[in-house]
Amino acid sequence: MSLPARVEVVVVGAGLAGSSAAARLAAAGRDVHLVDAADHPGGRLTTTRVDGFTVDRGFQVLNTGYPRAADLDLAALDLGWFWTGAVIRVDGTPHRVVDPRRHPTAVVDTVRAPIGNLLQEAAIGLFSARAGYLPVARLLAADERPAIDALRRAGVGELALERFFRPFLSGVLLESELATSSRYLDLLWRSFVRGRIGLPARGMQAVGEQLAERVPAHARHLSTEVTAVTGTSVRTAEGETRADAVVVATDPATASRLLPAVQASAPRQVTTHLHVLPRSPWEAPLIVLGAPGGRLVNSVVVSDAQPAYSPDGRALVASSTLDPTTEAQVREEVARAQGVATTDLEHLTSVTVTGAQPAALPPLQHRRPVDLGEGLFVCGDHRDTPSIQGAMASGARTARAVLRRLHPAGPTLDR
Ligand SMILES: Cc1cc2nc3c(=O)[nH]c(=O)nc-3n(C[C@H](O)[C@H](O)[C@H](O)COP(=O)(O)OP(=O)(O)OC[C@H]3O[C@@H](n4cnc5c(N)ncnc54)[C@H](O)[C@@H]3O)c2cc1C
Repeated sequence: MSLPARVEVVVVGAGLAGSSAAARLAAAGRDVHLVDAADHPGGRLTTTRVDGFTVDRGFQVLNTGYPRAADLDLAALDLGWFWTGAVIRVDGTPHRVVDPRRHPTAVVDTVRAPIGNLLQEAAIGLFSARAGYLPVARLLAADERPAIDALRRAGVGELALERFFRPFLSGVLLESELATSSRYLDLLWRSFVRGRIGLPARGMQAVGEQLAERVPAHARHLSTEVTAVTGTSVRTAEGETRADAVVVATDPATASRLLPAVQASAPRQVTTHLHVLPRSPWEAPLIVLGAPGGRLVNSVVVSDAQPAYSPDGRALVASSTLDPTTEAQVREEVARAQGVATTDLEHLTSVTVTGAQPAALPPLQHRRPVDLGEGLFVCGDHRDTPSIQGAMASGARTARAVLRRLHPAGPTLDR
């Protein structure tokens, strides 16, 4: 449906940030219209079907420990769960390193895993307890340094750092130097300690769709690219729409093109190769971490966590590298990680996502301004933290700011 010539609010971008903002404004009774250049909502959370398999655009997961996960109808997403932890391979042997609170049957494996001595394992426990249970204000007030320095100061030891933390965090932060802010590391680790990670039965795009569907159907406009904005108008190929407020909720690069005052942080990229195996080699749904010196950061049987990703019980494996790689360059490493022969692996597809997420280097600038003045607003993961949580939190913040502008003395959103 075409954008009307006059509306109250236009939100440009139906990723998690824009959809969160628009859903809140719609719930507050505002005449809000959500516009996206793509033919589906969800933004970077995009899912396709390849030969009957559910394929997310890059390996990604929903972490229920994110505070904003409370905004989602998790039951409707029908999540399938990973175990909290990972498998590391040392000299070819797999070892499970898991959260002992959640998976007591694997405690012995974790204690015996070659990631350091008991003192260092205790330091990992303390690091997790601190991130998980100190108030957020205390975590954000702590001295800030690169994540790698914070882990060393916590005393986790070099073995745990190289075999567990570096590959695990590289897969999340999409950078292997662990130069990311220790404050963001704390917030992220907190969510792993407090929540579980899962995949929706219909793929990660379902998260964005759920939020976007809270905006009335007549006010959702897909396949509509916005080419210019002011605080009172947006321009598309169809013409101009006038509005009392305009929210730019695009990816960071487009936001800085539409809004020259907004600077995009350096983008991170990831390449993910999808393979099919006749069956899963594993008993538990766990992420297998890349080995030190290798190209892979992780290799994951996603259908172990979410069986609906496979049409026929075969195993769907997603293996990611930070450098752009070809399937041929990683095939042997994927086979080693999964403990199978290369001939068992059937290549399904590969994808490189160049603007996967913005960097979060020190100093962490989360809660960057969203109200640019004169009716213009900006939201997205680049205003908060480079994550599902950051995108949704910035959308919530922006909705509150828009309401304040529209009705300075009117009701506000309480969260
Ligand atoms: C491979 C990968 C793995 C990830 N893994 C995780 C993970 O495991 N956990 C986690 O928390 N986060 C993860 N992330 C990060 C997370 O997906 C993002 O931080 C979040 O989705 C960003 O949402 P957003 O709404 O800010 O931006 P986007 O999702 O980029 O949404 C922006 C929207 O704007 C639209 N748009 C752009 N230009 C225009 C225009 N001119 N006109 C109209 N519309 C426009 C786009 O089509 C898009 O829909 C991952 C990201 C990737 C790519």
